Amino acid sequence: MKAAEIAVLLNEPACVHNKKDKAGCAKPKPGATAGGCSFDGAQIALLPIADVAHIVHGPIGCAGSSWDNRGARSSGAALYRIGMTTDLNEQDVIMGRGEKRLFHAIKQAIDDYAPAAVFLYSTCVPALVGDDLAAVAKAASERWGTPVVAVDCAGFYGTKNLGNRIAGEAMFTQVIGSREPDPVPQAAQRPGIRVHDVNLIGEYNIAGEFWHVAPLFDELGLRILGSLSGDARYREVQTMHRAEASMVVCAKALLNVARRLEEDYRVPFFEGSFYGISDTSQAFRDFARLLGDADLVARTELMIAREEANIRSALAPWAERLKGRRVLLYTGGVKSWSVVSALQDLGMTVVATGTNKSTQEDKQRIREIMGEDARMITDGSANGLLQAFKEYRADILIAGGRNLYTALKARIPFLDINQEREFGYAGYQGMLELVRQLALTLEAPVWAKVRASAPWSAAKRIGVALSSTETDHG
Ligand code: SF4
Repeated sequence: MKAAEIAVLLNEPACVHNKKDKAGCAKPKPGATAGGCSFDGAQIALLPIADVAHIVHGPIGCAGSSWDNRGARSSGAALYRIGMTTDLNEQDVIMGRGEKRLFHAIKQAIDDYAPAAVFLYSTCVPALVGDDLAAVAKAASERWGTPVVAVDCAGFYGTKNLGNRIAGEAMFTQVIGSREPDPVPQAAQRPGIRVHDVNLIGEYNIAGEFWHVAPLFDELGLRILGSLSGDARYREVQTMHRAEASMVVCAKALLNVARRLEEDYRVPFFEGSFYGISDTSQAFRDFARLLGDADLVARTELMIAREEANIRSALAPWAERLKGRRVLLYTGGVKSWSVVSALQDLGMTVVATGTNKSTQEDKQRIREIMGEDARMITDGSANGLLQAFKEYRADILIAGGRNLYTALKARIPFLDINQEREFGYAGYQGMLELVRQLALTLEAPVWAKVRASAPWSAAKRIGVALSSTETDHG
């Protein structure tokens, strides 16, 4: 990828943060992509497309350290969970065998698994050597008649966010628009209800959480034409240009796809979240508003009233147990404010939230939700988090999996909120799961036990006391 192409991707016009700062996203300095390189970002954005063979072209380490790093679930095809790599070694580089190995890897994937498509991810080594992924993809596609998509995302191009955009660009230029949607099946049609086609962009079905929300889409007659990329299939992504509206679920990743769909195919979009009761309701209202269907607006309000009433009564006994408990939240991007609103819905107090990866817009939302005095923390180091936990007298740390051991070593309650989590928190039903996990974590008897002195310390103290008494009497 040329420097000018990278500069275009870094300068996303639909990003409010970008408009304010003018300069576009920061370019990383060498060694500063510890949160994930561009390859990681591109792969993470596309890996949930479940019926595709995802081949990582590079040394084994690139694939090995990134495989399955996001718990995206599929309702059927499971090909995406098979790690595939060309496993380049020194001899391949010296002998210039990279492209040949890649060609054979594509053949093997097609012969063994008959995938709907093959995605090729470039990494640092073949990009430095100069392997031409696009040419290999074209030749392989012509040879075997299976779509092969080259994603030029070498790690040294930049950050994980840039990788997301590169992935989005590859989908927009090579996949979206290459097929027309299937007609709405007879079984999905109901008298008097018009079916609308919509897209979800930046929704990854982590721990199967979108399945909490999907039945409500069905009920309202909203057909999810394509998703980038939770529980997606290649043939669905191909048709995303025909949707009537898109929702960008994770605020900034893949914003370029939503913008280009609007510019080239007039598919309007909005940004929203499925975390928390009010945000979930707002997402459905925004779809109804964008689709401009009065009947849908009325049915949406009825559905929201029913769901909110049901979930509030289901949450009541749990919320009583959590009321007033203090939370230190350390996560990034959209979750820095959307989870705050979900926790406040439960009567909990968020004492501070992390803003390391948040945009100016995210910070503004935090101020709106938590007030002008909202405490925002940027120091995500183990010491920084523990210091903040103590200073703000928090009861629980809610953060990403990489903070798990910090919390456990400090013997404080911890809940994983990021992509590695095992429970889905989206939608109304997701709130019930969140509240359950919070209560179980906070009330676990283990905290009292691990914070108490070890039994042998007490025995040792008694032993010392006894021996000193004997000495006194002796
Ligand atoms: S693509 Fe480059 S930066 Fe990313 S994991 Fe591989 S070697 Fe490391």
